[in-house]
Amino acid sequence: MGSQNYIGRFAPTPSGPLHFGSIVAALASYLDARHNGGKWLLRIDDIDTPRVRAGSDRKIIDTLEILGLEWDGDIVYQSRRMELYEQALAQLSDGDMLYRCWCPRRITKGRPYPGTCRARTETAGKPYALRVKIPDSPILFTDVIQGRLTGRLNELTGDFILRRSDGLIAYNLAVVIDDAAQHITHVVRGADLLDTTFNQVYLQSTLNLPTPVYAHHPLAVDGRGRKISKQDGATDVLAGVSPETVLLRALRFLGQTPDAKLAQAGKRDILDWAVADWKIELVT
Ligand code: GLU
Repeated sequence: MGSQNYIGRFAPTPSGPLHFGSIVAALASYLDARHNGGKWLLRIDDIDTPRVRAGSDRKIIDTLEILGLEWDGDIVYQSRRMELYEQALAQLSDGDMLYRCWCPRRITKGRPYPGTCRARTETAGKPYALRVKIPDSPILFTDVIQGRLTGRLNELTGDFILRRSDGLIAYNLAVVIDDAAQHITHVVRGADLLDTTFNQVYLQSTLNLPTPVYAHHPLAVDGRGRKISKQDGATDVLAGVSPETVLLRALRFLGQTPDAKLAQAGKRDILDWAVADWKIELVT
């Protein structure tokens, strides 16, 4: 792909301060974009309102600035884009791809939805979720880091929710609409989102949207081998640590081999080296 066409992004949910795992995602997406001469956008994924913590967006923005990770253009907030998501729902509904579901969420938790409400015709007075019908055929895509992947949505999620009964737009819908609206060509993010990519690739095909190039890097885990999560009150990555140290740690986590003399360097020099020397094939 011609370098000036590359558009990448970092799309954190403002549910807490950036922890080491999210810095890895920010840095990997930044370096891949800049190394390829591309743009790097910042989007705040704040539609999942119960998870959003007031002021977290500001902290995230400050942290990126302190680390020297500069984005292009204006910051996009998903919460201001509800109209776009509703339009996509209308388009899917016109194509008979959606149905109403009254099943309580806890019944399906962790298991694929068996399609109980697909054949239900009565309109109960209760609030309902909107689910999209999934295909029988497997979903395929090639991930730059993980290789060729195949997923069967009937084994992963079943017909999945696009709008919850409380009105919240599901992550899978919002991310697909926004990646397309922002002309994102490359999505570099943590492997915790690998499975959701099958849902997203499927939605792209039903909405006639392009599928970006995906690269899922391994997930940084805490000392006990668990995923680090903003919601679990993971500590701010810069608490008592210099931005240079954070950048060098994240680079090493991503398999890059920063020069020993960068140990004394400032963040600008570290980032300049990292952009020039970025090798995605070293991320394993
Ligand atoms: N907002 C999501 C998160 O913070 C990431 C979205 C994405 O990269 O697709 O986990």
